Amino acid sequence: MEKPYPVPTPTSQPFWDALREHKLKLQRCNECEALIYYPRANCTQCLSDDFEWEELSGEGTLYTYTVARRPTHPAFADEVPQLIIVVELDEGVRLTSTLVNGGEDDLEIGMRLKPVFQDVPDHDVTMLRYEPA
Ligand SMILES: [Zn+2]
Repeated sequence: MEKPYPVPTPTSQPFWDALREHKLKLQRCNECEALIYYPRANCTQCLSDDFEWEELSGEGTLYTYTVARRPTHPAFADEVPQLIIVVELDEGVRLTSTLVNGGEDDLEIGMRLKPVFQDVPDHDVTMLRYEPA
């Protein structure tokens, strides 16, 4: 079974374009300076639609995780146990990803993580994964 991959929208296109260049860019509100994830049309804090796309290091710490021992979708059966993580970026935003280049025994809340830009040429998309720093 083929895995589902993200389909960029006009709002999220700059986010996916940056990942393809192996960069992480998130929206920064020009009105209140809030950093916003996931990409959206309006600021989560003040509803402004005036943004800049800001490049971040992508580094952060492990906020929480779960080990999926059964596939979350039949297409992910080859990835179990899947290490599903929530990363807290150094700038404070939390995002969901998966741990690569590490195993279940490596997971420790608060551990340093760095981004892995995983190209998926067949789908013209780059996925944001994480590995131990
Ligand atoms: Zn704002």
